[in-house]
Amino acid sequence: MVDAPVDIITYGMGELATITIANALRDGANINDLTDVPQTIVRRPVSEIPEATNGDNVVMHSFEECLQSKRAHAENFRNIEIESNKWHGRTMWQQTGDIAIKVNPMNPPMTSEQIDASFDLPYTRLPHPRYKDKRIPAYEMIRHSVNMHRGCFGGCAFCTISAHQGKFIASRSKQSIMREVKQVTKMADFKGYISDLGGPSANMYGMHGHDLDRCSRCTRPSCLHPKPCINLNNDHSKLLDIYHSVDALPEVKKSFIGSGVRYDLSMHKSGNPAVDKINAQYNEELIRFHVSGRLKVAPEHTSDEVLNVMRKPSFELFRKFKAIFDRVNSKYHLKQQIIPYFISSHPGCQEVDMAELAVLTRELDFHLEQVQDFTPTPMTVSTEAFYTGLHPYTLQPIFTAHSKEEKLAQRRYFFWYDKKYKHEIIQALRRLHRPDLIKRLYPKG
Ligand code: SF4
Repeated sequence: MVDAPVDIITYGMGELATITIANALRDGANINDLTDVPQTIVRRPVSEIPEATNGDNVVMHSFEECLQSKRAHAENFRNIEIESNKWHGRTMWQQTGDIAIKVNPMNPPMTSEQIDASFDLPYTRLPHPRYKDKRIPAYEMIRHSVNMHRGCFGGCAFCTISAHQGKFIASRSKQSIMREVKQVTKMADFKGYISDLGGPSANMYGMHGHDLDRCSRCTRPSCLHPKPCINLNNDHSKLLDIYHSVDALPEVKKSFIGSGVRYDLSMHKSGNPAVDKINAQYNEELIRFHVSGRLKVAPEHTSDEVLNVMRKPSFELFRKFKAIFDRVNSKYHLKQQIIPYFISSHPGCQEVDMAELAVLTRELDFHLEQVQDFTPTPMTVSTEAFYTGLHPYTLQPIFTAHSKEEKLAQRRYFFWYDKKYKHEIIQALRRLHRPDLIKRLYPKG
């Protein structure tokens, strides 16, 4: 905002803000007078910054203070995340030099009518003509996929989806989704396979709290961590209904779920036997009918301490989900694989945590491939911890591997089975005084 020659910025999913701005300009407003449009950012005189944080405003540390103090930076991040996860956020203010930046709060979650209106526009479903005759790998992946909702209430510390799309789920109507699926089936290159019926987290479609009033006052960054909220309605029946309707179309041979599934959501015992039965059916149908050979899931780590920093459930839950996966595969004589994703060098992760991850995944007979070393991306708790060295909520110091050597030392444990790393790993485990892990990792010596 400070550097760019712009009058106003919209953030997040910007349709509603764009329409508000466009209508106001059409009606003769001056762009400089549009200072209160939800989900926009504008420049204001410093004199407009309130004296202090109050019920409608958050006064953040100035940009210059943040350059001097990482603690101030971490506090700002926490405020931003809390406000962006609220139904009714407050206006945020930050001074830099002699100007004030005003961040107007997000719009409340879109209604189904609003989100349908956006998805039902007459898109061509084609890449921009400038890419004519070029292969676009991302397009190959999405051309036969359908996005059913926006938002994610998982709150994973390394993910920025809720900063873009909000914590609350905005779901398309079934009719709108079916219209798009039928459009996909008419595409010239459609061979009967829908590659994804998904969303930011595939299985949050249509979900929200039982008591929306309580949700509208909630400040939790995640409805699932540290424990699933007792107000959360995790009934998967609307989702199953859509899967069934899509699969009943004569043009569809199979529909896959390519987006990430939150198994902690579908496995969570709600206390309502009817819902728990539906959710068990969801897990079974997902594994039986909607996996294209390999089901990718993201336990992300095996250490509960690291998982807690990541705002992910315990690794025990992955074991339980894998047991369901194995049972369904054997029941229906399927030969599908489960592919777990993991991250090294995440804030809070020490080298020994990676050594234990190597041992536990070895004992589960995984040779990991789908792994990544933590990469800081803007607007996440993890990146804030990486940069400031503090957890933005507790403001306590937190370790993160930073140097190339430290990161490599963590990453190589993924590949314990590669001869190239064996000697180094054994040396490292001796240095860490963990001969027990050497024995478990290389029981044959
Ligand atoms: S009250 Fe519970 S279900 Fe509602 S937003 Fe908060 S954590 Fe999520």
